Amino acid sequence: MNMLNKAISHTLPFIPKPIVGYFARPYIAGERLDDAVATVKRLMKLGACATIDVLGEEVKQEAQVMHAVDIYKQVLRKINQEKLDANISLKPTHMGLKLDKEMCYRNIRTLVEQAKVYHNFVRIDMEDRTTTSDTLDIYLRLREEFDNLGTVLQSYMRRTIDDINHLIPKRPNIRICKGIYIEPHEVAYKDGFIINQNYTYALEKLMLNGCYVGIATHDERLVWEALRLIDKYKVPKTQYEFQMLLGVTTSLRRIIIKAGHKLRVYVTFGTEWAAYSSRRLKENPHIIGHVLKAILKNEKEQ
Ligand SMILES: Cc1cc2nc3c(=O)[nH]c(=O)nc-3n(C[C@H](O)[C@H](O)[C@H](O)COP(=O)(O)OP(=O)(O)OC[C@H]3O[C@@H](n4cnc5c(N)ncnc54)[C@H](O)[C@@H]3O)c2cc1C
Repeated sequence: MNMLNKAISHTLPFIPKPIVGYFARPYIAGERLDDAVATVKRLMKLGACATIDVLGEEVKQEAQVMHAVDIYKQVLRKINQEKLDANISLKPTHMGLKLDKEMCYRNIRTLVEQAKVYHNFVRIDMEDRTTTSDTLDIYLRLREEFDNLGTVLQSYMRRTIDDINHLIPKRPNIRICKGIYIEPHEVAYKDGFIINQNYTYALEKLMLNGCYVGIATHDERLVWEALRLIDKYKVPKTQYEFQMLLGVTTSLRRIIIKAGHKLRVYVTFGTEWAAYSSRRLKENPHIIGHVLKAILKNEKEQ
């Protein structure tokens, strides 16, 4: 599968949009907000809740940033109108981090403030290593003022445990994931065993310190570790949730919901799906292997 992944990722720039779409389709609700709303309603019927992400990142022009902020405002309004069990996730580089950190802070603040009016919540996603410190700075600054926001830490990053130690006094709301970007060995663990051990260690630290955790993984070993810690420390249901991507390991998702745990699905939508998917697939060709495996197993979003 590895050779195939690499071959596909190298030829991606020349692959027609419909084929990229084939690999992207399981993960994306559609191009319009209404597509995301329909997907969230379907997920709610299955007992899940959602976080809605507007596709876009590494935005280069201020006008594009302001357009993204406007779309997120519409998403928050729609969630409120339609009484969806959903919050929002956003990427700092979509909010202008690479243009101007202060503008990015102001944009995220605007959305957190609007979300607060609707009793809703904003998750600041974590991007690659060039954004980690700025993202945590912005999160901590907003945390002084608001309680309806959280961020993400990646267990492949060597700095993550230090970051948790630094954040714990602020009672953060943290999604823990392995991390999707390809990072150099100097900053990130490469060994799957260590990444999983670090994930569990991070989870344990956060749970023991009363922080809310989003357990974002499709790795059944990590789901088991999380369940073990929840049981060991009698973590109340109000202090954690599982999180998965749309279209991924739907059978594991059903098992977790059936066992009575809260499960949130990450629902992305937007017109940027082709650029976004090409970049993601190119960055991390393992995704191609995952998709092919899911197709072979006939695993469908339902
Ligand atoms: C809700 C959520 C939010 C996330 N937010 C961020 C973020 O802010 N920053 C960040 O860097 N990363 C984020 N990620 C991505 C994450 O870091 C991982 O890259 C991704 O979830 C795969 O890791 P895993 O824990 O599922 O383990 P893996 O070992 O990668 O996967 C375990 C199994 O899950 C299945 N699987 C995993 N991914 C896919 C896929 N794409 N398609 C099909 N099957 C798949 C496969 O069967 C695989 O064997 C997020 C993930 C989730 C679920």
